[in-house]
Amino acid sequence: MTQITHRKNTRPVQVGPLTIGGSDEVIIQSMTMSKTHDVDAVTAEILRLEEAGCQIVRVACPDMRAAEAIPEIKKRINIPLVVDIHFDYKLALKAIEGGADKIRINPGNIGRREKVEAVVKAAKEKKIPIRIGVNAGSLEKKILEKYGYPTADGMVESALHHIKILEDLDFHDIIVSMKASDVSLAVEAYEKAAKAFDYPLHLGITESGTLFAGTVKSAAGLGVILNKGIGNTVRISLSADPVEEVKVAKELLKTFGLAANAATLISCPTCGRIEIDLISIANEVEEYIQQVNAPIKVSVLGCAVNGPGEAKEADIGIAGARGEGLLFRHGEIIRKVPEEIMVDELKKEIDKLAEAHYEE
Ligand code: SF4
Repeated sequence: MTQITHRKNTRPVQVGPLTIGGSDEVIIQSMTMSKTHDVDAVTAEILRLEEAGCQIVRVACPDMRAAEAIPEIKKRINIPLVVDIHFDYKLALKAIEGGADKIRINPGNIGRREKVEAVVKAAKEKKIPIRIGVNAGSLEKKILEKYGYPTADGMVESALHHIKILEDLDFHDIIVSMKASDVSLAVEAYEKAAKAFDYPLHLGITESGTLFAGTVKSAAGLGVILNKGIGNTVRISLSADPVEEVKVAKELLKTFGLAANAATLISCPTCGRIEIDLISIANEVEEYIQQVNAPIKVSVLGCAVNGPGEAKEADIGIAGARGEGLLFRHGEIIRKVPEEIMVDELKKEIDKLAEAHYEE
């Protein structure tokens, strides 16, 4: 049986200063909601995404106004920009000329060969990759006729069809996504894709839903895929503020130890022994560590009975203890602090650990 190509063994592809593929790193992406031609709105949105930890951003390019906005958007942002085009090669050429770091277009949908060649030539000249976006909901007619309905094999066949068009033009800076809103179908499609070719894979469960339901659905599907060693970039598709997509992606990557420089929170599930307002403290600390770019494990526990011992792996933590807090490190209590200042004391300790990490 053909082996899955682990994300480490995929072909490295350059997107601006980032290398996608060829390592265990999984890059976080999101997509803007603002109209791309509204440069002020779209750049404000991208800057918010950057702050949240987004590493690559995609904008829709439905018309020439959007394509013409690309140079100005590029000037105002700091992360690589992907321009999403459907069919129209003129938009692709304009976006490439305007400084897109990657375009998302399916070569099989562009039309005449000269048009495909023009896009590939422009991408080669600017050394930017092309993402092929296979979507279960929009498979080619002949593939649907062959399989009867969207299947993983049909999706891989579609991907290989688009890949071949690019390879025949000696173009290999390719990234592929295999999106489906059905979780099992997406998992199977990504597995089969990782066996069929070694181009980096962009992961997503499309149309996954609202913040809560979509988070659960995306985490379920993408968790399975990531755990198999598949996936080089990820987008959580939510019907919500894209900043939420980035937060969920970060959390998901942390779960698999794939977020190199992110702090994680360990908080107890609460029980009748609780001595502090744990839920609000846990939320406050979670919010605080979003900004910490160091692999620190922080723990917040409701009581000291089983408290510190329950979180031995924590680099720093607090446990409630009747009107006071116990600060502890790796399960050992380091000092007692009054309850009113225990969260501030914890934050100071987190900052110290982060500083020590940055100086390393
Ligand atoms: Fe209960 Fe204390 Fe454990 Fe939290 S740390 S679950 S409050 S025993």
